[in-house]
Amino acid sequence: MSEFIAFHRPSIGEEEINEVVETLRSGWLTSGERAARFERAFADYTGSLYAVAVNSCTSALHLALAALDIGPGDEVITTPLTFCSTVHTILHVGATPVLADVNQDGNIDPAAIDARLTPRTRAIIPVHLAGLPCRMSAIMSLARRRKLRVIEDAAHAAGTHYRNEHLGSVRSRFAGDAAAYSFYATKNITTGEGGMFTTNDRALAERVRLLALHGITKDAWNRYASNGNWFYRVLEPGFKYNLSDILAAIGIHQLKRLESFIAQRAAYARMYNDAFGRLEELETPADTTEGRHAWHLYLLRLNCERLRISRDQFIRELAERGVGASVHFIPITMHPFFERWALQNACPRAEALYSRVISLPLHPGLSEGEVQRVIAAVTGVVAANRRLMAAGAGQRIA
Ligand SMILES: *Cc1c(COP(=O)(O)O)cnc(C)c1O
Repeated sequence: MSEFIAFHRPSIGEEEINEVVETLRSGWLTSGERAARFERAFADYTGSLYAVAVNSCTSALHLALAALDIGPGDEVITTPLTFCSTVHTILHVGATPVLADVNQDGNIDPAAIDARLTPRTRAIIPVHLAGLPCRMSAIMSLARRRKLRVIEDAAHAAGTHYRNEHLGSVRSRFAGDAAAYSFYATKNITTGEGGMFTTNDRALAERVRLLALHGITKDAWNRYASNGNWFYRVLEPGFKYNLSDILAAIGIHQLKRLESFIAQRAAYARMYNDAFGRLEELETPADTTEGRHAWHLYLLRLNCERLRISRDQFIRELAERGVGASVHFIPITMHPFFERWALQNACPRAEALYSRVISLPLHPGLSEGEVQRVIAAVTGVVAANRRLMAAGAGQRIA
C-alpha cells in the first residue's frame, strides 16, 4: 500500500538549513542583518519600494490597519472567503468588518463592495484567494473615487501578477496602499511562521516599522551591537511583531526558489485541469487572463447535482484512497462568533461555493507520480459515483 499523500509538505532545502545553523552560530538571533536582507530581496521581487518583515501575515494586516489610523467607528470591507484572521485584525483595531460577496472565481466582487459602502467605509481588504488576482482595476478605481484605503491580503499571492506586474508593485497602476504576505508553513514560501508588509508609501512604511517593534525609535534593534546605542525612545505603544533572523534565514533561500516553486505548482495544476476538465461532475478552478495565478491552492469544484455524494463525503472518499484534501474557506459568517453579523453580511454566493469546493494537494514537494495518484483517486471517486447512479442505488458508496 503506497503512502498517504498529505495535503501539504513544506519544501525545505539544505541552503535554508545551513543558513539557520549559521545564524544560530553567529551570535545574532533576533531581527538584524538577515531580516533586513530578506526585506530588500522581497521588496525587489515584488517591485515594492518598502518591505517590513514581521512574524505573520496577521501581524502585517494588523499593522497596516493601525498605521492607517483605522479604528472605532470605521468600517472595513472584506470577503467572507478568507482565513478568520483577516477579519480579526479589523476587530482588533476596533473597526467594524463588513463582508461583500464573491464572484464566480471566488474573489471579492467589486459590485458587491460598491453595494456595501457607507459613509463610514474607510478601507477594503481584498484577498487574492488561492493566488488568483482580484479585479484590482475595478477595486482601485472604486477606492480612488471614494477615497478608501486598500490593504491587499496577499497571504496566498507571493508571485501573483496582475496586468504584467507583481501585486503591489510601484510600477503598477493597480497596487493597493499596502500588501500583507504570509510565510506560514503551507504558503507559497515559508519561514515556519512569518509575514511581510509591503508598500510604496514611505511614511506608511516608517510607521509600520515603528509599530512592529514596540513603537520605539529606529535602529533600536541594534542597540546591543558594538556600533549600537543604548538610548531609545517610545513614540507610541507598538506591538511585538518583528521577524527573527533565524526565520529570515529560511525566507532568504525560500524566496530564491519561489519562481521554480510556482512553475512546479502551475505544471501540476495543468495536469489536474487536463484530467478533470473532461468530467461533467467536476469543474476546474478559475484562472486569469489578467495576470499570473500563483497556484497556492487548487480549488476543485464539484457539480453536486451530478453527484450522489456530498463534498464532505467526497473528501472522506479521497482519504480512503490515500489522499489528504482540505477546504478553503469556511465562510466567515458560518463561524459561531460571527453569527451575530451573518444576517446583515449575507453572502449566498460564498456559501454556495463553499458547499462544493475541495482543495487538492498542490505543492512543489509532490512528485509527478503522487499527482497522478491524486488524479486517480479523484477520478476513482467519480467513477464509483457513476456506477452508483447507474444502478439507481440510494445507498452511499461503501
Ligand atoms: C494564512 C492566511 C492568513 C494568515 O497568515 P498568517 O501568516 O498565518 O498570519 C491571512 N489571510 C489568508 C487569506 C490566509 O490564508
